[in-house]
Amino acid sequence: MTSIVVLGSTNMDLVAYVAKAPGRGETVTGRDFRTVPGGKGANQAVAAARAGAEVSIIGAVGADDFGLRLRAALEHSGVDTDLLRTVEGPSGTAHIVVDDEGGNAIVVIPGANGTVTSLTHGDEALIATADALLLQLELPLAVVAEGARAARERGVRTVLTPAPARALPTELLSVTDLLVPNEHEAAALTGHTDPLAAARSLLDDVPEVVVTLGAAGCLYAARGADPVTVPTPRVRAVDTTAAGDTFVGALAVALAEGRPAPEALAWASAAAALSVQREGASTSMPYRTEIDAAAADLEGHRV
Ligand code: AMP
Repeated sequence: MTSIVVLGSTNMDLVAYVAKAPGRGETVTGRDFRTVPGGKGANQAVAAARAGAEVSIIGAVGADDFGLRLRAALEHSGVDTDLLRTVEGPSGTAHIVVDDEGGNAIVVIPGANGTVTSLTHGDEALIATADALLLQLELPLAVVAEGARAARERGVRTVLTPAPARALPTELLSVTDLLVPNEHEAAALTGHTDPLAAARSLLDDVPEVVVTLGAAGCLYAARGADPVTVPTPRVRAVDTTAAGDTFVGALAVALAEGRPAPEALAWASAAAALSVQREGASTSMPYRTEIDAAAADLEGHRV
């Protein structure tokens, strides 16, 4: 079975639904409140596990109720949490205010995620067994770079989602095989608002780039080949939360299975398009049989 390791964050999302978000010094009464397991690392781990890989996560939760729930949610989706540390203090949290126009404002408190500052021998041994290592930017940058370096030294493919957007050190880019920004992150990294120009410029730093473009699909660029646009299925989106994480998780699985890039991208797009048709983050992520069926449907339409 394909083996994927995620070095990344776990957060409890605390979501308040209000008509209009409060301004400074203002108090408003909201309509609803939910706690939802999230964090980019955990979301990508769940997506890859549901897409059919054996998945482990390296990261940390706090010694609190949220930590117990975050671990249980991962295990429920089949993610191995043996190397997910439990540390003193609070779990990571994301405080999200969603207004009636669908806009949101978010405060992330890293909590336990911030304590993951270096890898253990056990972490490195696990990475060595993987087909791919998935990384994002919600853990301290130094450990993200250390993980990517450890993977590169052992010939394990590294897939980096540069979110939340920030400048990336050359030492991290130099050990990244595949970079998957959305169009905003691609613009923030390069200064180019045109995704094609951004992708071309990113190829100076990494051998392969996928810029995700929401309902417009994605743009794939690799050194020595012409960039291609891969469309995503036309669907009625009800909630695009974690569409990007679903996409990356499924893409990593398909590539690790040795499928050629265009096929892997179409399959990942089918997975992401399924997720946007359902409410929620990890709860909206599709299972392998559903992705296969949606991808086959797509093929059928093209013929
Ligand atoms: P994003 O992070 O918004 O760029 O989305 C990641 C991926 O999810 C895209 O490349 C698409 O494959 C898929 N996706 C996002 N939004 C939609 C949508 N409204 N309809 C269909 N697919 C979508």
